[in-house]
Amino acid sequence: MKILVPVKRVVDHNIKVRVKAGGSDVDVANIKMAMNPFDEIAVEAAVRLKESGQAEEVIAVSCGPKACQETLRSALAIGADRAVLVESDAQLQPLTVAKILGTLVGREAPQLVILGKQAIDDDCNQTGQMLAALLDWPQATFASNICVDGASMQVTREVDGGLETLELELPAIVTTDLRLNEPRYITLPNIMKAKKKPLEVIDALTLGLDLAPRLQTVKVCEPPRRAPGIIVPDVATLVGKLRDEAKAIQ
Ligand code: AMP
Repeated sequence: MKILVPVKRVVDHNIKVRVKAGGSDVDVANIKMAMNPFDEIAVEAAVRLKESGQAEEVIAVSCGPKACQETLRSALAIGADRAVLVESDAQLQPLTVAKILGTLVGREAPQLVILGKQAIDDDCNQTGQMLAALLDWPQATFASNICVDGASMQVTREVDGGLETLELELPAIVTTDLRLNEPRYITLPNIMKAKKKPLEVIDALTLGLDLAPRLQTVKVCEPPRRAPGIIVPDVATLVGKLRDEAKAIQ
């Protein structure tokens, strides 16, 4: 089984982002970037399937500028076998990324695509679902456990009422939730090995797809500052405030 794992380069989750003057977008100049955390979980899940003998090849793919090669090298250091960068300096929205991934699925013929449930920069939570729709493949989103069994797989999902387990025929799309696994620590020897693994670069314009954005960002602004907290003298005052003031907010 071949597994395709799309990985997105996003602002590192430890960084507090700032809005550009003028409110056109988030300022990412000179900011530390990293692999989207849900995608690290996806790479880890794919590599574990390979290590357990259920997959033969793990291919990491990223769509975006040249700098995404760094993100792909991280995926290779976790254990992916090879990487593909679909290079574009344009703003790629989920539908565009889904179309690009759909084209790569046609080329690579994987039996499984494992994506993150969402990218922490735009929080769209759309790409996996759109890819499943474009390919007309079954999908299991927000996976907290996966178990491949021949031509099918079972995926446990976290839903409001508890856990739901789905059975899907392969080929299929899975998106990862936080509890699926804890990605391994990337070691220096594996970083060195990753430098020698194949990384193919494809110009997005050569794919013959309509890459034009469908959504326009009207304004980006910071959330309102929270009012400072207060210290109450005793429990009775706290209970009183909870009863009267919390009720007033409702
Ligand atoms: P989103 O729908 O933007 O929240 O992204 C969901 C998932 O789609 C991410 O966790 C990635 O696995 C994948 N994805 C989104 N954008 C890209 C991209 N530019 N390159 C590769 N994978 C992406």
